[in-house]
Amino acid sequence: MKPGPRIHDPLAEAEFETICSQYGDDYAARFGAAAPAIYQTSTFIYPSAEAFETRKSEDCPHYDYTRGGNPTASILEGKLARLERGNWCESFGSGMGAIAAAINIAIHSGAHVVCAGHAYGPARWYLQHMQRFGVETTFVRGVDMDTFRAALRPNTKLVYLESPTSGWFEVLDIAALADIARRHGAMSICDNSWASPYYQNPLELGADLVVHSATKFIGGHSDVVAGVLMGRDEQIHQRVFREIELGGATLDPFGAWLLLRGLRTLPVRMRQHRESALRIATFLESHAAVARVHHPGLPSHSQHALAMRQMRGTGSLFSFEPRVQTREATYAIVNALKLFSIGVSWGGYESLVLGGSFFSDPGEPRWLIRLHIGLESTNDLIADLQQALGSRHA
Ligand SMILES: *Cc1c(COP(=O)(O)O)cnc(C)c1O
Repeated sequence: MKPGPRIHDPLAEAEFETICSQYGDDYAARFGAAAPAIYQTSTFIYPSAEAFETRKSEDCPHYDYTRGGNPTASILEGKLARLERGNWCESFGSGMGAIAAAINIAIHSGAHVVCAGHAYGPARWYLQHMQRFGVETTFVRGVDMDTFRAALRPNTKLVYLESPTSGWFEVLDIAALADIARRHGAMSICDNSWASPYYQNPLELGADLVVHSATKFIGGHSDVVAGVLMGRDEQIHQRVFREIELGGATLDPFGAWLLLRGLRTLPVRMRQHRESALRIATFLESHAAVARVHHPGLPSHSQHALAMRQMRGTGSLFSFEPRVQTREATYAIVNALKLFSIGVSWGGYESLVLGGSFFSDPGEPRWLIRLHIGLESTNDLIADLQQALGSRHA
């Protein structure tokens, strides 16, 4: 049994912003402190040998060791379970820790996995890595439902999804794919980092598990690496909890505290990220040096209607294709930017850029520039893009 408070909170039915601000924050239990304590402890002390013996009892499980639970993490997990419209949440030391745990509970030797072909690279590599234990994965390119259906085999145990996908920002029909998985007796996992729980809730669309790189929007300040995993089914929860206790990819108490601090402002940050990214994507779309912009919030995106049906809003990460499709032209734009820093990751307050060659369907290589729109002035960011793209119409 997972330790932690059983929250009987009058705010259980509250809306998103109120949950971020106050749900599960028991001020009286922490001497009235507005900010939660960082329970920076490895172990927990018992008043008697009998109390230790019954520490995992059903009615009142006690914390015993931070690898299996910590009071600071419990506040975070209580909020995030509600925000993602699940029944439980577990926190991990990285997004990949959460992804690996989620995959591990779905597969076994001899199992087959169907995975979105443009899902986050390391998630795909983890599935390839499992091949040495007899787990085979089919990577499905594109968004066509029939291609996904055709990839199923009698031993398919997992359908791994991410929407929108990394790099190309294709939108997958989560409800339809989760349904295909369920009818086939396979589990479905959806990476929801891009939209955040504020704009999309894959559990409501039928996915069994949702993972986030909390390093990105949930943390929001580029100062913590973390992951979270949410679901509804309690039996699956017990298996996830076992993955944490045995796999050991637990989030540390200070990391949990940083995520809690980030979470307080998630809704206001998301609204600003959405607005700024849409304005900048629209600007880029009309620029002569830009061939194409990949942002699901633009009406020109081929799955715009589906995106608007399954998301309440859009994130800040998107890509565009420079008109001049060469390494030199792409790098010249990236190097000319001053407010966009060159770096991996995204979801923080600062704007970031990466340029590179990626493979599009059906395999023609394209030069792409990926932008994360931070919380700077949109006017300043557009001026920066304008000067970097300026004389590169050719
Ligand atoms: C960054 C990222 C991850 C991995 O998260 P880490 O916290 O870096 O381990 C997973 N999925 C997506 C979409 C990401 O962008």
